[in-house]
Amino acid sequence: MEKKCEYCDCCPFFQSTLVDMPATEALTKKKYCHDDFKSCARYIVTIEVGAEHVADSLFPNNNEQAERVITRVRASQ
Ligand code: SF4
Repeated sequence: MEKKCEYCDCCPFFQSTLVDMPATEALTKKKYCHDDFKSCARYIVTIEVGAEHVADSLFPNNNEQAERVITRVRASQ
């Protein structure tokens, strides 16, 4: 079974935040998108409360921010 994030082809992070940063993009994709995507902050927010709550600028390693977003969204529901 392929180990790859289902959002690889549509994740806006690479079209917005990591523009013109090919080395960082390659490392991020290797570490998260094509391997440990379940620990990606963007993936976690998407799964927990929905993609509409994922800011384009949210970095995959910013799990603290992901938790804050999830807590805020759930508190407002
Ligand atoms: S950055 Fe995260 S949500 Fe976006 S494609 Fe990679 S693993 Fe998936």
